[in-house]
This record gives sequence, C-alpha cells and structure tokens, in this order.
Amino acid sequence: MRKINPHDFKVARRGTSREINRQIALNLVRAHQPISRADLALLMNVRRGVASLLVSELLDEGLIFEGALGEAVGRGRRPTFLYIDSRQRCVVGVDIRASRTYILVTDLMGRQLGAVSSFQTNKDVEVLTQELARRIKQVLADYKDVGACAGIGVAVPGMVDPAGGRVLHAPTLGWRDVSLRDPLAAAIGIPVHIENSAKACALAQLWTTRRDVITAGHSVFVSISDGVGTGVVVNGELMRGRHNTAGEFGHVPLSIDGPRCSCGATGCWESYVSNIATLSRYFGRDLSEPGPRDIETSTFTIEDLIARARAGDAKSLGALNSTARYLGLGLASIVNAIDPARIYIGGEITTAWSLIEPIVRNALRERTLTEFGGTTEIHVVPAEEHPRLRGAVALIAAPAFAAPMVA
Ligand SMILES: [Zn+2]
Repeated sequence: MRKINPHDFKVARRGTSREINRQIALNLVRAHQPISRADLALLMNVRRGVASLLVSELLDEGLIFEGALGEAVGRGRRPTFLYIDSRQRCVVGVDIRASRTYILVTDLMGRQLGAVSSFQTNKDVEVLTQELARRIKQVLADYKDVGACAGIGVAVPGMVDPAGGRVLHAPTLGWRDVSLRDPLAAAIGIPVHIENSAKACALAQLWTTRRDVITAGHSVFVSISDGVGTGVVVNGELMRGRHNTAGEFGHVPLSIDGPRCSCGATGCWESYVSNIATLSRYFGRDLSEPGPRDIETSTFTIEDLIARARAGDAKSLGALNSTARYLGLGLASIVNAIDPARIYIGGEITTAWSLIEPIVRNALRERTLTEFGGTTEIHVVPAEEHPRLRGAVALIAAPAFAAPMVA
C-alpha cells in the first residue's frame, strides 16, 4: 500500500515499521469506518492480535473511538465499531485567488462545518496576511465548540516552496518570493501549511475517501479560476519537480502571438481559458493592453456570464464556446504529454459543462495524437464541492493521518 521511493527511503527499524502500521490502520479506519477490529485485521492482512494492539494504542491516544455495536457473527460476542475521533479538532482551509479569498472550517475528516466565507483579496501580502489572521481568529471564535484547530491550510495560485513557506511566483497576484506561511502562523498562533492550489486539489483527490478515486496510472487536476493551475499525479504520487514548480501547463503557450498572460508572456493557455480571459472576451477587452485588470474586481462575474449563456444570450455563449475550444486544445497537450487515466476539472466553468462539453471534446480529439487520447476520461468536480478549499484542508488533514498515498 505504501509507496517506497527506491532512491530515498528509511530502513524500517522496529519502531519505524510499527509507526507505518499504525498509520495504515488509522487510514483504513478513516476510509472504512465504522469498522470492526476483525475487518481491520483482514484488510491489513495481519493477525487479529496485531490489529487489536494497534487499535489499543490509537484508542489510548484519542485518535479513534469505539461506537455502536455491530451484528454478532455466529456465537461470538458482538463486535464494537471503530471510528476516527474527528470531534475535538477542526481545520481551516483558505483559498487565495486574485479576486477573492475564501475560508472554510472542517472537522479532521474534511467534513464542512458551516458556510464558506469570502472577502476581496488585497494583493499587498502584508495587508492580506493581517486581514486573513483577523478573519480566521473570528471564524475560530465562532466555532470554538468544535475543538482546537489542528492547522490552517492555504491554497495559493502560484508556485510555492512548501518547505520554506514562501510563494516563489504568483502571477495573478503579482507576488514574487514573498513570505506567507510564517507571518500568518505568527499572527494566529496556529501552524500554517501552504501549497499551490492545483497541487492541493490533486492531493485532496488522492486523500478522498470516495471509492471512485483512481490509484493506478496518472491523473491531472486542472483548476480554472482567475488563472489556470494544474496538479499532476504520476502513479499515485504528486509530481513536484526539483523546486515544487512542475506541472505549470497554464503557462504553456497555445500561440506565441496570443493575449498577454498574468505571467507577462503572451499566448499562455491561461490567457485563453481563465475566468478573466472568458470575461475579457465577453467585454471585447484585449488583455494585451497594459493597465489594471479591473475585470478581476468587476461585479459581473463568470457565474453571471454562464447564467446569461444558459438563458440563450449569444454574446455570452460565444465567449464561453471559445473558452471551451481553447480548453480542449490545451487538454490535448496535457494528454499528449502525460497520457493520464483521468483529468479532473474544477472551477466555476464546470457549472457550464453541459453547454461546453461537446466543444471541449471535439477540440481534445482534434489535437490528441491517438484515438484513445481523444477519449481520455474527464471528471468534472462540482463547484459546490469547493475543490480548492478541500485541497487546502487536505494539506492539514491528510498529514494528520499520514495517508500512505499522500506521504
Ligand atoms: Zn503565462
């Protein structure tokens, strides 16, 4: 179950291997709860005594608890079911975008507690850090009955150095090498973990307890908002590259003569398919023109545009259909480069999927190099699932379980 990197692994000393078994047990309880000790032993392929010993440790540490009694098998006594104890700790997820910043509180299982809140993003990182700290403290005060906060996960629309806690380059925010993690942690007094938005989304898909998640082959998460981010998973492991900056398909050019991109170059895929690109097309605005990108803060949003398109407005539909075609052409490059088993797409544009899917598919088929490339599975993650916030939460919740697939 656990993947071992042949170039970088620790020899499993007695203590270490027990720690791994404990993490595997904890994850199996998380994925299969409610579960009996006997079923846990079966899933782990260990003797029942071994499983019971691990369970006793996890019970002692308060990580799991015993709940309702199950059905007795034969004449044996009725087994008790085991559950993850997610009651005493909560997690805060933060999704920073160029236009707005979103906050969500969940339990340790990633289950949403209360509504998502949001505010307009101030691109001055110090001002934003202070405002975030103030709002997170307020949210935690509102949810103080759900227990202590285990950590704050922050999804950032840019390239991130998670070890140093710095944002290396966030084009849509205009940030280069800014410190975010430590000032935020210091202001709130709770650990903070930051990661690129699309990588966080890809990690959350790996960590999900949903049974339809793929564990074999490659997958790509495409997150479309003010910009476009992609997180690539190769054989169950997030592709990070040497500096954690791998997988920036959003800045691969679709045409070198194309519109100006947030990164300063022209013709990047992002400059054709981001929400800002779609809105610009609708307004007849040329992104190549210098000046502030006031479309980001306009009161007319991509949701408004999609609603008009659904109502039959030709101008909205035209802008959306162009985005759909460029989306498919860019996806073809990803398929040609990665050959994934599945592509996930998240973002507001997914609410228009029934309108645009045929155009996306045609463009994908047009530019993929094999017939099966054109039929690559595309899995739309509904906007109401808040994939970026779920990704931010997974940054804290997944390591708490040391999920074998994510570690
Ligand atoms: Zn770019």
